[in-house]
Amino acid sequence: MKAWFLADQLAALKAEHLYRSRKTLEGPQATCIQIDGEKLVNFSSNDYLGLANNPKVKKAYLTAAEKFGVGSGSAHLICGHSSEHHALEEELADFTGRERALVFSTGYMANLGAISALVGKGDAVFQDKLNHASLLDGGKLSEAKQRRYLHNNTERLQQLLKQSEAKKKLIISDGVFSMDGDTANLTELATLAEQHDAALMIDDAHGIGVLGKKGAGLVEQQGLNQQQVPILMATLGKALGTAGAFIAGSEELIEFLIQRARPYIYTTAPPPAVMAATRASLQLCQQETWRRDKLQQLIRHFRMQADQLGLTLLDSNTPIQPIIIADNEKAMKASESLFGEGFLVTAIRSPTVPKGSERLRITLTAEHSEEQIDGLLESLADALS
Ligand SMILES: *Cc1c(COP(=O)(O)O)cnc(C)c1O
Repeated sequence: MKAWFLADQLAALKAEHLYRSRKTLEGPQATCIQIDGEKLVNFSSNDYLGLANNPKVKKAYLTAAEKFGVGSGSAHLICGHSSEHHALEEELADFTGRERALVFSTGYMANLGAISALVGKGDAVFQDKLNHASLLDGGKLSEAKQRRYLHNNTERLQQLLKQSEAKKKLIISDGVFSMDGDTANLTELATLAEQHDAALMIDDAHGIGVLGKKGAGLVEQQGLNQQQVPILMATLGKALGTAGAFIAGSEELIEFLIQRARPYIYTTAPPPAVMAATRASLQLCQQETWRRDKLQQLIRHFRMQADQLGLTLLDSNTPIQPIIIADNEKAMKASESLFGEGFLVTAIRSPTVPKGSERLRITLTAEHSEEQIDGLLESLADALS
């Protein structure tokens, strides 16, 4: 019976400052949002290019909803796969320079689906310690042996690969690390994969749209083709401003996932209008290169100003700019104090990040202004002093 005393467990979370609660937005995702009637400048969103509430993206959504209705009505393999899904997949394959792409309802499902379809008992998965929860969960679901290496430590990864006697080996890494903002060295990972006859899967949820000349992410920025990174995953709900995710790779990989990825097969296809909206945002992502340029300029500005105020930054050149607080209560207090000053910055605690590395996760978007950043940094310096 005791195991079911949920109230005790909830009370324990509160006592440890680990209790989580949701804030309710009273309008669209944007740099200026409203919560409980209060206007806030938002530094917590993953809408890096500012496309979630873009008029052209909304128009594409509405037009498609008129034509296709709302619900897809079925799974992809029954009768839920529409011409909008199909067209988006072709455009994503073209965008990432891969043979094909497969759209999933969420990134979490894409990761569970791909990993559990590709490896199983007798195989081994090698993951960076800071990989996203969905990759770790995908590994567990697969029943392959789980190996973790210290963050970006390719020497340790090499040792683990050498020791492994698994039939199939799969190396998995975030491209841009979601809570730290730093990046994996894809060339090193691809070289190790080749030397050890392993496959390489990169989750570029936070790189897509943001990195590379045309926004195709870390693989474009570091110049790795389909052969070097055979399994590329990215999400549609962050820089692309809509919802869903995709896996891109070879013809065989995609056909295999259609046959075997259970979180693809046994779920209702996402609404066609969301696919149409994503097609529009994918176009804007490629055409409006000023969004990436502006974002890079704001990242430089943020880092320069933060440095002048004596704030300690991590080694990140992406829109994810965490400030380590290393304490649950202090991180929560700093976040609350910023809220009072009109800034939304979320405190990230364990188990999302390791204990002792609790932080404020600040994210920048192309729609912020330098003035908003200066205002945030002033309040932040006060809150931490
Ligand atoms: C957000 C995220 C996911 C999950 O994507 P959803 O579409 O939100 O389910 C997967 N991997 C990484 C690295 C992420 O940041």
